[in-house]
Amino acid sequence: MNNDLNVELLKKYAPKPGRSPLLPTLTPRQQLALLCRVLHREGYNDHIAGHITVKQPDGTYFANPWELTWAEVTASDILHLDENGKIIEGEWNITPAINLHIDVHSARHDVSVVIHNHPSWGSVWSAVGRVPPIYDQTSAMVDSDPVYYDEYRGTVEDGAAGRAAANALGQEKWALLANHGVLIVAKNIRQAHLRAITLEWRCKMAWRVESLGGGTPLPASVATETGRRTDENGFPFLWEAMARDEIRRDPSVLE
Ligand SMILES: [Zn+2]
Repeated sequence: MNNDLNVELLKKYAPKPGRSPLLPTLTPRQQLALLCRVLHREGYNDHIAGHITVKQPDGTYFANPWELTWAEVTASDILHLDENGKIIEGEWNITPAINLHIDVHSARHDVSVVIHNHPSWGSVWSAVGRVPPIYDQTSAMVDSDPVYYDEYRGTVEDGAAGRAAANALGQEKWALLANHGVLIVAKNIRQAHLRAITLEWRCKMAWRVESLGGGTPLPASVATETGRRTDENGFPFLWEAMARDEIRRDPSVLE
């Protein structure tokens, strides 16, 4: 059973001597470009909307540029920002909504990745004003409900709105922003990937189930136990598989 896999089993399935690695060694810029590509394919595809920041050990950030879709960004497009979100290095512009990310990073030293976008399925539940139930195992890979933040105050480039969204997230993993989109935080790229795809899958599955008249959600104890096993370190081999898929489709993502 997939939900029996956990961190301990990663040791059991450690690479055999001589086997090629699941992914080549990647720079932080390459990891971020790949995360953008992977998530675009999963539904984080509202044109040029959406931004991801990844905090570095020295307090600076890497972020995707404003002008480019998540489907076209490459490693060399990734911007390097100072601790206030100002560009240190890069040829593109940074979104005016960067303040949202800086506010969240300032409040959450336990996370290094902050994702905001208007994904296809998450945005539906954000607009409906409900947290989607968990109807299957894949929807349960993260063990908590998103915060529903229902105080829409315009776009997040407004300073007060950014701080309010950061406050609404609190110490949680993710939030549905009413009539807007989603906000997801994570300690690293692997966990960020799992949380982002799980939220979108959960929103899509629940929409489909309820469009047929509804179903029976997973028992809460089963859902929690499943997510507890996978959320902390990501589902084994999943990030690597999806990143390889993007590299195969377009190796220039790493350039
Ligand atoms: Zn937005």
